[in-house]
Amino acid sequence: MARMKAAQISKAGGDFEIVEREIPQPGPRQVRIKVEACGICHSDVLVKEGAWPGLQYPRVPGHEVAGRVDAVGSAVTAWKPGQRVGVGWHGSHDFECEACRRGDFGVCANGGITGVTRDGGYAEYMLAETEAVAAMPEELPSDEAAPLLCAGITVFNALRNAGARAGDLVAVLGIGGLGHLGVQYAQRMGFETAAIGRGADKQGLAKKLGAHHYLDATAGNPSEQLKKMGGAQVILATAPDSKAMAALMDGVKPGGKLMVIGASADPLQINGVDLLLWRKAVQGWPSGTAMDSEDTLRFSALSGVRPMIEKFPLSKVSEGYQQMLSGKARFRAVLTMAA
Ligand SMILES: [Zn+2]
Ligand SMILES: [Zn+2]
Repeated sequence: MARMKAAQISKAGGDFEIVEREIPQPGPRQVRIKVEACGICHSDVLVKEGAWPGLQYPRVPGHEVAGRVDAVGSAVTAWKPGQRVGVGWHGSHDFECEACRRGDFGVCANGGITGVTRDGGYAEYMLAETEAVAAMPEELPSDEAAPLLCAGITVFNALRNAGARAGDLVAVLGIGGLGHLGVQYAQRMGFETAAIGRGADKQGLAKKLGAHHYLDATAGNPSEQLKKMGGAQVILATAPDSKAMAALMDGVKPGGKLMVIGASADPLQINGVDLLLWRKAVQGWPSGTAMDSEDTLRFSALSGVRPMIEKFPLSKVSEGYQQMLSGKARFRAVLTMAA
């Protein structure tokens, strides 16, 4: 049997282990992918530290996978060996729960998660269910495409479903792993784009990414500034900071929305009277399905949205993970596999 290298975690809180495993054989409805790059996402902490209920070890993390189809199962007709593809967080759905029967696969009650409930892309090869595979345009390099399969799709999908129309003022809170993509998508989607960051030093970057306005939260009150500009139709909250999010509600336009994609477990304290008087809404958005990934990749290729990345070979997975964890990565850490 041919063998491959993979980075696995074998117990909660354990270190990454580079191991040799047999290259897995695809089941009837599975696709085997030769991984070229896999992003390191903050959600990988769930696997590393065992925070996902019922998690089984050993587990190969990784849900920002870019590569090529290597082999397909007997029942797969949509994919061919050699095709460029990506796989994200959404790892499978059961086609049978109420959401699936209504065609809303993204909120399947029994959905699988790539690199969490099944092995992911911190490996030279991985298996994906056929419904979890997204086609990837030729012009996107794998290392830049990888973060678009989680960070990218989450931002893109949240923004396109938030109810803003071309020309509306959209603000992006935070200019990090998600936010630096959010600013690019918002501007490319035709919104008047305001980036909210901390410190004057972020202004140049925000403008370079496409922001029309930069609001420095350390020098002024972004909520008041947005209000003066007429209010934001949508505020995309990417920074995992419930206080900063709540403080922006006043900057949301009547009928507008605070869209939460920065994962913070802290309660979001919002004044209900403000919501009801001004018909404001708060909503969250969890990435999306393979088709949403495909839309994200195509739009990114078309409009020139690219993540800023730091690359690490698979053998340096611990360093890459530490860099992600430290918050110092500018802005997404990506594992690359040897050709
Ligand atoms: Zn992720
Ligand atoms: Zn389902």
